[in-house]
Amino acid sequence: MSTIFKKIIDKEIPAKIVYEDDEIIAFHDAFPVAPVHILVLPKKEIVNINFASEEDVLLLGKIQLVLAKLAREFNIDKSGYRVLTNIGEDGGQTVLHMHYHLIGGRKLGTDI
Ligand code: 5GP
Repeated sequence: MSTIFKKIIDKEIPAKIVYEDDEIIAFHDAFPVAPVHILVLPKKEIVNINFASEEDVLLLGKIQLVLAKLAREFNIDKSGYRVLTNIGEDGGQTVLHMHYHLIGGRKLGTDI
């Protein structure tokens, strides 16, 4: 079943896109928990890292570099930031298309 993120990838619904290439897209979270809250994800429909495989290794590596690039662009690389991915029900995953949250711009506690 198509997720809301697939619809964003396919430009069926709008999002504030801050990075895009053939394999990866990043956009502002609609409900930010900090001044910078960006979602970075593969265009490939992988539910979460439980479903990633050897063939995704390069893609997952590229995502790490996009996260760091965006942190620099949004000026949180030096102040610090958090990267997290929620997995499954107990992990709080609400959209079943893997994504990394890039969160920063304020001092983060342990609540997120
Ligand atoms: P999860 O809870 O699965 O880790 O994260 C899903 C994230 O997607 C949440 O932070 C939520 O605010 C965000 N989100 C849900 N629907 C939309 C949407 O339609 N557009 C955007 N930009 N973000 C969304």
